[in-house]
Amino acid sequence: MNVPDAPTICPWPGDKRWVYSITFDEALADLHRFAIPILERHNVPGHLEVVVGHIGNVRQIGQSSFNGYRHMNADELREMIARGWGVGNHTWSHEQIQPRDVDREIRQARDVLAEAVGEPITVYCSAGDNSNMSDHVLDACRACGYLGAMSLTDALNRPDDENLLWMNRTFLHDQAYGPFFSEFDPFRNIAHARHDRGWLIDYLHCPLEVPVHRNKDCSADQLQRRIETIVSEGGEDLWLARVEDAMDYRYVRRHARIESVDGGWRVSTEALPEGVRRRSVTLRLPDNVQTVTVDAESVKINRGLIDVDLNQPRVIKPEPRR
Ligand SMILES: [Zn+2]
Repeated sequence: MNVPDAPTICPWPGDKRWVYSITFDEALADLHRFAIPILERHNVPGHLEVVVGHIGNVRQIGQSSFNGYRHMNADELREMIARGWGVGNHTWSHEQIQPRDVDREIRQARDVLAEAVGEPITVYCSAGDNSNMSDHVLDACRACGYLGAMSLTDALNRPDDENLLWMNRTFLHDQAYGPFFSEFDPFRNIAHARHDRGWLIDYLHCPLEVPVHRNKDCSADQLQRRIETIVSEGGEDLWLARVEDAMDYRYVRRHARIESVDGGWRVSTEALPEGVRRRSVTLRLPDNVQTVTVDAESVKINRGLIDVDLNQPRVIKPEPRR
């Protein structure tokens, strides 16, 4: 039988054009006032960056603008996971991580957080600024099996990024820090993400009636405008993703192998890191393939696409035309 050209792995699930995630540093309980209801109305999953040594405590960290606000406790974090949100390690102390601190800030904090929320933790999120993305920190993340590390660099993430332990985030603040003092822009990076098939991750803290700090947060009204803009501009082209899910997809896509076998293809993954939970990819089939079997079961093709679960290798065979 003549086998057509091989399938390809789509940049994102369902061959979506671009991806959006949103992250809330410090995981404050006041997110329930505005942020959580706004995201829920639009079916957008959020992500909480937890200061693990302060879970449940009223914040009292250095000169933080958010001192006096309470961090969510373990039950509250579990409840957010049940709503489809994700959780990352925002260090143990929120201080500058010295080489001697990495075991507490990266490994112990991760283990304590996983125990508290009842889920594996695969995301690290830099506290303060990108100095907590230094080599000794990222080396520790790699050694501990983290799958992603989030920075404060305002840029897109792309499907083919080489370094999966450096993720960029776009600030969603009333005003950026100087010297540019960029004003709030509900359209920030959307056209860029669509053009480059990128993954846009927003970063903020806890939007209230007015921003707690203009350069660190937006207001609830601004968050509402941002989410409405994301959803209306994105439409069917957009994947609203939990950070972990988009991250896992990048790993599975990168580690997937497609080989020709008699009458079809074998799709498998090679050396996929253990921490990857969601192990499916979307394949685009060659134009002339109308129907396929996956491990001898007929599978419906939708717009030239099929989803395959790569928890085990799969054999895909085009069926003869009827
Ligand atoms: Zn922080």
